[in-house]
Amino acid sequence: QDVSRTYRSGDHDLQVLRDANLTLHAGEIVALVAPSGTGKSTLLHLAGLLERPDTGAVLVDGRNAGTLSDPERTAIRRDRIGFVYQAHHLLAEFTALENVTLPQMIGGRPGAKDRAMALLTAFGLKERAHHLPGKLSGGEKQRVAIARALANAPAILLADEPTGNLDVGTSGVVFQELLRMVRHEGVAALIATHNPELAAQMDRRVTLQDGQVVEL
Ligand code: ADP
Ligand code: MG
Repeated sequence: QDVSRTYRSGDHDLQVLRDANLTLHAGEIVALVAPSGTGKSTLLHLAGLLERPDTGAVLVDGRNAGTLSDPERTAIRRDRIGFVYQAHHLLAEFTALENVTLPQMIGGRPGAKDRAMALLTAFGLKERAHHLPGKLSGGEKQRVAIARALANAPAILLADEPTGNLDVGTSGVVFQELLRMVRHEGVAALIATHNPELAAQMDRRVTLQDGQVVEL
């Protein structure tokens, strides 16, 4: 709600978001389609409680996250939000299964390993579960990263150009799997993408113009 964010670098200010408003409804899949440098990542980081806005409020499940302590915000991120980045950020020394399971084990979630295995299987990676990331293809690594983001059964998935590092063919396939799983799980998703064809498959499309969120 009315979120603003200005970056200060050296002696000049860059206002990226200017009283921006966006509501993501339960179970809804929204495409964030805007050119590079317009503030997509900034918006996703604010929505994911990774950063705080200068002014305005980020509400999750109706709670104003700005009034919460860092541990409370961490708990919301852990329990309610999944995040997929452009790069997979998998831990190189751990298997695919461990990468998907570990955050949930740290969170003390029972059944974390079964859930992780079910997700990897849904992504066609059952036979790859015990491989290290270095032994997986780019598309497989990103599938593991998506499975990890869904492992906590989040209410909200935030994805920042999730297939942006893959070749066009692989990107399309992985994206279809992402959309299928998001719908299957009933997760609300905000997904940044440059690809209009992928955006067309989502429930709603928004862009960023002069720091504001505008419906497409
Ligand atoms: P997008 O994801 O759409 O490419 P970003 O949100 O990453 O856009 O960045 C928006 C603008 O803010 C860009 O001009 C970028 O260079 C600038 N920017 C992003 N992060 C920082 C930062 N930490 N410090 C200074 N400028 C930043
Ligand atoms: Mg970005």
